[in-house]
Amino acid sequence: AREWHLAARPHGEPTPDDFALVEVEHPDPAEGQVVVRMVAMSVDPYMRGRMRLGPSYAAPWEVGEVMKGGAVGRVVESRSPDVPEGALVLADAAWRDVAVLDARSVRQLPPTGDLPLTYSLGILGMPGHTAYAGLFRVGAFREGDVVFVSGAAGAVGSAVGQFARLRGASAVVGSAGTPEKVAWLREIGFTAAFDYHDGRVKDLLAQAAPDGIDVFFDNVGGEHLDAALGALHVHGRAVICGSISTYNATETVPGPANFSSLMISKRLAVSGLLVSDHPDLYREFAETVSGWIRSGELTVRETVYEGLENAVPAFLDLLKGANTGKMVVRLAPD
Ligand code: NDP
Repeated sequence: AREWHLAARPHGEPTPDDFALVEVEHPDPAEGQVVVRMVAMSVDPYMRGRMRLGPSYAAPWEVGEVMKGGAVGRVVESRSPDVPEGALVLADAAWRDVAVLDARSVRQLPPTGDLPLTYSLGILGMPGHTAYAGLFRVGAFREGDVVFVSGAAGAVGSAVGQFARLRGASAVVGSAGTPEKVAWLREIGFTAAFDYHDGRVKDLLAQAAPDGIDVFFDNVGGEHLDAALGALHVHGRAVICGSISTYNATETVPGPANFSSLMISKRLAVSGLLVSDHPDLYREFAETVSGWIRSGELTVRETVYEGLENAVPAFLDLLKGANTGKMVVRLAPD
């Protein structure tokens, strides 16, 4: 089997030298364990945070150790009565092609039928769940709201914008990093979209949402957060989901100016979001969103890299915006 190890802690943008592909002998499964051949693995922005030391809601990866992450695969050998051979599972399996895991640590997936298995890593998995809990619970979305989402062409962002449209937003505005992404956002039902490279976010947002916004769903931070706080209505809500514009930064990224006076004068609610706080919403989310996919109301896009050797390029390219929709790495056929 092969697996990726963290070789060094990056300073700024990670490079291929920070990772090492290592050949390993996997152990025989013990009682209660399963051997899983991975079909696809996820690369996600939060992984950049695991590469650094420092305060975080999760422990950092250790140099010289395998890198963790969500993956889907098929059980090829089972020593557990609960998870039979042949079962499809979702696991925090790490960046590797074969994993020996405790049966209790994997989630058996129902047959996906007509839907690709990789959706369990994206729209029907952690990023989709993030979008659902963030918009509907943390953001307290209401029909008629004007919603602005940053990082709108990514896995979380493209879900947020479409969920808002499907639940009756009066307008949905998105920002993204290329003209192609902006065109795609309009195709999938965003009312307005802009490329944040085209000027100051504040000005671009004022053009796209001249009457202001009710909900800001932030994946980007920095200048986007500053601009959006200024555009929020009185009693507006901001969901702080991520701040990808800061993840590779080596210096402090300028954030909101006049934070206190904006908070007070507009009585804003600014809330941090962590998807793992909302397991109770999972079932409702999965049922609702798979319904929207099957009815054709929700557009799902993935960017797929092939082969374990391309996991690092996929991760580095994700941080640079090469993906539209969820970035996944396919390791084997279903
Ligand atoms: P995406 O699919 O959105 O991929 C990341 C995207 O970020 C890229 O495609 C790129 O698109 C954009 N990006 C990269 N650098 C910058 C920059 N400097 N400024 C603006 N945009 C940039 O990833 P996800 O959907 O998986 O994650 C989106 C956000 O949600 C991340 O911030 C992530 O950390 C966060 N998150 C938070 C969770 C939580 O529980 N709080 C759970 C899951 C995700 P572009 O071309 O538009 O620049």
